[in-house]
Amino acid sequence: MTLDVRELYREAILDHNRKPRNFRKLEGANRTVEGYNPLCGDKITVYLRIENDRVSDIGFEGSGCAISIASASMMTESVKGRVLSDVQTLFEKFHTLLTGEISTGPQPIDLGKLAVFAGVREFPIRVKCATLPWHTLRAAVESRPESVTTEFGPASQPALAPAVSPATSDLQRPIIEALRTVYDPEIPVNLYDLGLIYDIGVEPSGAVTIRMTLTAPTCPIADALLWQVDKTVRAVPGVTDVTVNLVWDPPWNRTMMSESAKIQLGLP
Ligand code: ZN
Repeated sequence: MTLDVRELYREAILDHNRKPRNFRKLEGANRTVEGYNPLCGDKITVYLRIENDRVSDIGFEGSGCAISIASASMMTESVKGRVLSDVQTLFEKFHTLLTGEISTGPQPIDLGKLAVFAGVREFPIRVKCATLPWHTLRAAVESRPESVTTEFGPASQPALAPAVSPATSDLQRPIIEALRTVYDPEIPVNLYDLGLIYDIGVEPSGAVTIRMTLTAPTCPIADALLWQVDKTVRAVPGVTDVTVNLVWDPPWNRTMMSESAKIQLGLP
């Protein structure tokens, strides 16, 4: 990243954090969704008024780090007045910008000012902060009434280590190693060390049952991640069948991460 882009990024974050645009409860909203980023503690509520497949108005409220607030603020400016299909395209482009995933399909809309968020890529722990408003918006557009994530406060309960019962099977070690190759593209730590795998059950027949959670349920990659866990574990020699159960209780929080994951993400 050039110095100029870095400076633009810094200025945009400071400006929008200090004076968030459209920071208000929207009277007459016909969609309201709350989002929560347990990695950082950011909480926002997005209010949308959708008329004729267009975002006729948008507002947000919440509390969080400067990046989450600035991202929400800039998002509201970018999507107000747009048709929903363009909002979807913007979401995908923004997500691609931050995660570096290659997205396919035509993308005729320019990110405009949102391009400064390329700066977040230098701070991987902050990617979820920047994408939280967008995941929340997307959930609102798709009219899912539930919260974008768990809604539970962080670390309100005792930490759970990944609950793998000791020595029940020779297969567990290779399964764990396999799970360590699976990543949420928004977080540079594998699912196992993040603490997202709650339980690995192995039957004598080689049938495996995995109980796991995710940090944010509405991410469009959630299905892809579950599929990848299934496929990865299925490829472990000796595994005959795989069942992946996605659970939200207990809700994940950052104390469930391994020490090495915390170090990798620069957390205390
Ligand atoms: Zn944050």
